[in-house]
Amino acid sequence: MEKAVAAALRKLPSVDELMRYATLVQAKERFGRTAVVATVRKVLAEARKSGNFFSNDDFAGRVVARLEGDARPNLRPVFNLTGTVLHTNLGRAIVAEAAIEAAMVAMRNAVALEFDLGGGRRGERDELVRDLLCELTGAEDATVVNNNAAAVLLVLNTLSRGREAIVSRGELIEIGGAFRMPEIMSRAGAKLAEIGTTNRTHKKDYVGALGPKTGLILKVHTSNYRIQGFTKEVHARELAALAREHKVPLVNDLGSGTLVDLSRFGIAHEPTVAEAVAEGADLVTFSGDKLLGGPQAGFIVGRRALIEKLNKNPMKRALRVDKIRLAAIEATLRLYRDPDRLAQNLPTYRLLARPSKEMLDVSRRVLPALQAKLGEAWEVKTAPCTSQVGSGALPVEALASLGISIVPTRARANGRLLNIASAALRDLPVPVIGRIENGALVLDLRCLVDVDAFIANLATLAPPESSDGLA
Ligand SMILES: *Cc1c(COP(=O)(O)O)cnc(C)c1O
Repeated sequence: MEKAVAAALRKLPSVDELMRYATLVQAKERFGRTAVVATVRKVLAEARKSGNFFSNDDFAGRVVARLEGDARPNLRPVFNLTGTVLHTNLGRAIVAEAAIEAAMVAMRNAVALEFDLGGGRRGERDELVRDLLCELTGAEDATVVNNNAAAVLLVLNTLSRGREAIVSRGELIEIGGAFRMPEIMSRAGAKLAEIGTTNRTHKKDYVGALGPKTGLILKVHTSNYRIQGFTKEVHARELAALAREHKVPLVNDLGSGTLVDLSRFGIAHEPTVAEAVAEGADLVTFSGDKLLGGPQAGFIVGRRALIEKLNKNPMKRALRVDKIRLAAIEATLRLYRDPDRLAQNLPTYRLLARPSKEMLDVSRRVLPALQAKLGEAWEVKTAPCTSQVGSGALPVEALASLGISIVPTRARANGRLLNIASAALRDLPVPVIGRIENGALVLDLRCLVDVDAFIANLATLAPPESSDGLA
């Protein structure tokens, strides 16, 4: 080792020395002794390794900055200006105030989760939402699990373990990342009996596959894509009759599943759970945090005898939901008893049905604030854009929306510069997430509600690099 480096190493302050430093004594009050000591050690070790040495003041400053960074929650709120209302990577539905309040009460208190207050006996947690779910869907019985993937897993495992689950090749979906219908089936112990072709499946295909090994017929709502053109699928009503005739259950995985007709919000019709039940499915599965607008959950509604079987499966215990989410689910479901006010009370519908006039008002305030911060090297203007529902729901429905488009004024809007601008927005205290589209960074205003907070959040924004140095 070089002499100079060795000498500098000797001069590095000791941990004890740094801990006596006034700024770090204060830091101990804020972050606790353990965290401060650990961070001092880390910063010293890095200095030793890199050979970059600082004054003791600098060391203390670095330690505090590191502690502040580490104290920031990893799960941070963001402004979702992607235009995707139910963005899976951004946490899907924003839940209703009523659900937030109910969840907080459940967190703060002991609650009658599995306790029959009338009889003073042990109760069942499904009781909390069973009646509401039955009322809203017309089903006989209902249960709740962790998410819809869990719902499908539980149903397949209970009704078709070691047996065949018949499903059309046109419905073997993959949902974002890891959920693939054939894989869930095999993990559930069911044997996939795929029938028909990608674009056409006929009744005779189902008939040909039905036999003594059949555990169930599965219909999957192809929620996140459409097959168009020369297509044929067997309607759920027809499948229900076939299933009854062969004495096997028909399961309909609706995916998003809505409890109300979306056309009342000016959105295309998506099959409702009540429709799927009325069409004769024995069980219907759907998500809590997609179009339903609640917390993550998976619902299974349908025939009582089958729900009882699901509840007896030991897997149910492993997939159950906790009191916090149950409280939020119950409060969310209650909002559906007053469908006329859903667009007021449920953020998901409020955002999906947001009037263009409101987005115009938002743009009038946001545009000058953004332009002032980005400087003249960036051109900021309003531009029509399209939002989407997200979470695979209504994949081909575009919702007319209003966005703010950001492009460099002097350079061509190339990917590198747009990435720099979008990184600068993501780097704000509350990260702003937009999308790059047609040579511009677009901030879709549909989901921007708290405009004051958005503008205050821009305080630290500096104009991002805006040229390729060719000007
Ligand atoms: C989204 C979806 C699932 C998975 O639901 P999660 O709640 O995300 O677990 C399953 N099936 C279909 C058809 C879906 O659209």
